[in-house]
Amino acid sequence: MAAPLRILVFGKQGSGKGTLATRLHQRLGLPHVSTGDMLRDAAASGSEFGRRVAAIMDAGELVPDDVMEGVVRERLEAPDAAAGFILDGYPRTPGQAAFLDDLLAPEGVTVAIELQVPDDVVRARIVHRRVCTSCGAIYAAGRDAAAESGVCDVCGGSVVQRADDTEEAVGARLATYASLTEPLLGYYSDRGLLERIPGEGDPDSIAEGAVDLVEARRS
Ligand code: ADP
Repeated sequence: MAAPLRILVFGKQGSGKGTLATRLHQRLGLPHVSTGDMLRDAAASGSEFGRRVAAIMDAGELVPDDVMEGVVRERLEAPDAAAGFILDGYPRTPGQAAFLDDLLAPEGVTVAIELQVPDDVVRARIVHRRVCTSCGAIYAAGRDAAAESGVCDVCGGSVVQRADDTEEAVGARLATYASLTEPLLGYYSDRGLLERIPGEGDPDSIAEGAVDLVEARRS
């Protein structure tokens, strides 16, 4: 069997990492594992676990590493992830990176992709971001009709602003990214696994470039 293709997608909030991960999923046929989406689903379920994580997420803070370990292990050990996956939103702390290494040994991560976008650009994008609560499609207020009508073009679900897409929570999330997550890029870079790509421009071209980088690393 070919080695699994395990792709990590990094980028600030609003950098387009969810959009890139969705396109990589469509192109490569591997599951898109978004820890943010999984936690939002848990929050929407109204379970006790969901209520706990909703409070943390709405404040723009990180869910504790030990809680994330259970969530990530269960998902990445599912049969559909055996051939590989596109992991979006994990790891975000040194502890999470160490846990992931243990979980994925011996083959480890295939490639880590960082989408690079300046802070002022992501802040502007986030304030305008609207999402479908059913299928996750992303729209921009002032550009897309679905953002104004509140009805998703793709599935007819309801399009809303995320509770953590406020100026205040965005500031907290960008600060956490700079202090905890950005240093992890050095960890992958030191092992020759990091690919940095500019995150401004047409999403399809960005995805094409990323697919080429992934294909070049396929063993
Ligand atoms: P963004 O990258 O735009 O913040 P995500 O959808 O990836 O959005 O994550 C939303 C929230 O979910 C985070 O602010 C955090 O509270 C929680 N979360 C997601 N992934 C993790 C993780 N790996 N560790 C801890 N918390 C996480």
